[in-house]
Amino acid sequence: MKVLKFGGTSVGSPERMKGLEELIGTVNGRKIIVLSAVAGTTNTLVDIAQNCLRGDSLKAIRICNDLKEQYDQFVADLYTKPESLKLANELLNDRFSLIQKLLEGSFSPEQEKIILAQGEILSTTLFFYYLKEQGEQVAILPALEFMKTDQEGEPIISFIEEKLGNLLDAHKDIDLFITQGYICQDYQRKVSNLRRGGSDYSASLIGAAIKAEEVQIWTDIDGMHNNDPRVVSNTRPIAHLSFNEAAELAYFGAKILHPQSVFPAQKYNVPVRLLNTMNPQAPGTLISKEGREKGVIKAVAAKDGISAIHIHSSRMLMAYGFLRKIFEVFEKYKTPIDMITTSEVAVSLSIDEVTFLDKIVEELQQFGAVDVDQDQTIVCVVGDFGANTHGYAARVLDSVKHLPLRMISYGGSDYNVSILLDTEHKVEALRSLHNRLF
Ligand code: ADP
Ligand code: ASP
Ligand code: MG
Repeated sequence: MKVLKFGGTSVGSPERMKGLEELIGTVNGRKIIVLSAVAGTTNTLVDIAQNCLRGDSLKAIRICNDLKEQYDQFVADLYTKPESLKLANELLNDRFSLIQKLLEGSFSPEQEKIILAQGEILSTTLFFYYLKEQGEQVAILPALEFMKTDQEGEPIISFIEEKLGNLLDAHKDIDLFITQGYICQDYQRKVSNLRRGGSDYSASLIGAAIKAEEVQIWTDIDGMHNNDPRVVSNTRPIAHLSFNEAAELAYFGAKILHPQSVFPAQKYNVPVRLLNTMNPQAPGTLISKEGREKGVIKAVAAKDGISAIHIHSSRMLMAYGFLRKIFEVFEKYKTPIDMITTSEVAVSLSIDEVTFLDKIVEELQQFGAVDVDQDQTIVCVVGDFGANTHGYAARVLDSVKHLPLRMISYGGSDYNVSILLDTEHKVEALRSLHNRLF
């Protein structure tokens, strides 16, 4: 069985949805189609919820009405049979009156999550009606019934495996399934989500749960490029990446993949292919166990919104247990550390989750002097940096020698070198690395 995930632009218009039917038809075998919301919808739903949380429910209602109008047009252009159009209009009335009702009452993050879930419910149901209209044998697998996270917000693979298995068993005669990306139930069975861009994560989790033959992530570009195409020109797609390399790039900012989306597929050794809906013939990128290449620098990615924390203490000198005490502060505030470098009397760390930054700094001050630099960017270079290679790390540093660097991390793994610098130097760093490495 294969899992095919289509992003927002791939379902972004009635024409695209029609084209999808054709595209799906070219992939052999039993398959689960995972859809994102129509491009722009989740952003609009966030906007609606934010306005409501801010107390401007009139504005929220206005944006909601505009969105409904866009969908009215969408369905009018998508279907040819009156029965399908009737079903679609009923769906729109149902979903949009639910949103309106939520906006009227007292509004909390719980209601916000229900609103955010409507984008994927709309796209999948509209596509389902379209396939039915075309005479396809197809079933919907409701993600809210099988996709679940625990108290820490981590997906529970065993639950997904069991519930999804049951749903598939109930449809033994069907070869084509549609499900929602992004949305899930939390540990209290309330509607939740896997964070922005989470449909990639859904696809990988589903692929892992059913031990799929392959997960295909269909988007608007021909695979993982060797640098950020939004910032650097002349980037090109990479044919093959290892799971580790792809995970590193996704985690450190390559927007084409949700930061956590490689791990489930990697754990169950399910290959992931990145493909282009707008150019289905392009080979794209294959992510698998075998993707490493000796002596090759593969790609560069960047992650913004980083804060660097520097702790200086002479008590650290020759002391053991010092780092443990520091790490415990981050553990207490459930804040992951991205980069770390140490010297005899100081340690620098970087984080991207700043909710508890003030509290963390306050607690760290008992160990020494603490400085914080905000608006930092991690630039991550992925490739073969094994212990017996030489010269590659030097090439990376040489490419950014004209820029002030805040931290350098090398040797943590043999497939990555990371540098931390002020975000104002990011674009120059990416371009310069591109020119000198590729
Ligand atoms: P989807 O809506 O299909 O999930 P996304 O917008 O989330 O699509 O991801 C695709 C986009 O990621 C591309 O259009 C591209 O601009 C951006 N992107 C950033 N870094 C990379 C990279 N290294 N390789 C390819 N695309 C990238
Ligand atoms: N629709 C969600 C978002 O915009 C999930 C996704 O597209 O992957 O974040
Ligand atoms: Mg995406």
